[in-house]
Amino acid sequence: MKRRDFIKKALATGVVATVAPSLAASAFPSVAASVGKGKKSSIGNEKMKLTFWRADAALAHPFTVSGYTRTHTPIVLTKIEYGGYEGYGEAAMPPYLGETSESAMAFLSRIQPILDKYPSPFLLEDILFEVDNLPTFHTAAKASIDIALHDLVGKLIGQPWYNIWGYDRMKAPDTSFTIGIDTPEVVREKTKEAAPYNLIKVKLGTPQDEELVGAIRSVEPNKPLCVDANQGWKDKHHALEMIHWCKEHGFIFIEQPIGKYNLDDMAWITQNSPLPTIADESCQRLIDVPKLKGVFSGINIKLMKCTGMREANKMVSLARTLNMKVMIGCMTETSCAISAASHVACACDWADLDGNVLIAHSSDPYDGMKVVDGKVIPSDRPGIGIVKRTDL
Ligand code: MG
Repeated sequence: MKRRDFIKKALATGVVATVAPSLAASAFPSVAASVGKGKKSSIGNEKMKLTFWRADAALAHPFTVSGYTRTHTPIVLTKIEYGGYEGYGEAAMPPYLGETSESAMAFLSRIQPILDKYPSPFLLEDILFEVDNLPTFHTAAKASIDIALHDLVGKLIGQPWYNIWGYDRMKAPDTSFTIGIDTPEVVREKTKEAAPYNLIKVKLGTPQDEELVGAIRSVEPNKPLCVDANQGWKDKHHALEMIHWCKEHGFIFIEQPIGKYNLDDMAWITQNSPLPTIADESCQRLIDVPKLKGVFSGINIKLMKCTGMREANKMVSLARTLNMKVMIGCMTETSCAISAASHVACACDWADLDGNVLIAHSSDPYDGMKVVDGKVIPSDRPGIGIVKRTDL
């Protein structure tokens, strides 16, 4: 029996996934015997092996936000090998969140001893619980381990994660294209570039709001818009005024109108808002979700905020249980982390997964999810569905 077939058969019986090799050998002699037959298998005999490296990526266009400009973004890539398969992960660290390539590398240097304690990557719940309990805030570095383990497990099983989770990839939501604050000419050009997308995201909160939206509407009179205020609107009355203005101009939801800790005023805004309100800065992790019920209409999940696919999927379930809307966003990330997020996106209302488009193609080592008819569709390859590009 080939190694791959063995794994599939063993998984079907629930053996490899949950039982240490020695226990499997005694409790499940038929499966244990099959390990020794045919092609020599290393499953159960080898350790997971982690490697990681800096891969700071050039941006497609310099990116200006809050008065500073970036040409590169710090990224650390990970790989976990096991059973002849390789799982890939990524930590993307925009400077304003506090993690750096150095801090991620230091964090990742503590992970191999944890992996060594476990017989296989199928125990990812236990492994990631332990990784998350390391006393640091390094959510992006943690996500890079989470994504690599998910990629690895999916490859060992031979299935993409949307199948493992039971999601329909053809129900993937519209993903937005972001247009920044710029001159009307540039905004009109960007709006033309956004033609393949069904949803345009804008940043508002400057005196040019009317001009910006007017320039978009001169090219796309009817395309739905959404706004990310990034906590920028000064108080609840101003925010509600802005939301009514947005409603009149064809916006469909509002992200993070006011300061992330101001939940009382935010609840008032949501109660009176004609549009759904979405928490981004106010919602980092699973523990935040129940606190936001009644405060926002929904949450924006990002793998780099919440430590990866495992917790992101739990956040989706919890938000759905609480009858909240769900969107999935990203940092500036390569096709690795964006592809990982695309599996979660299948269960979301909206996606904002343009991080890989912001990276210069020559700096993106992977090929994975695709935007088809404005929707972000994960690849049907096993794991997170990426392949290494050969033209680099
Ligand atoms: Mg946001």
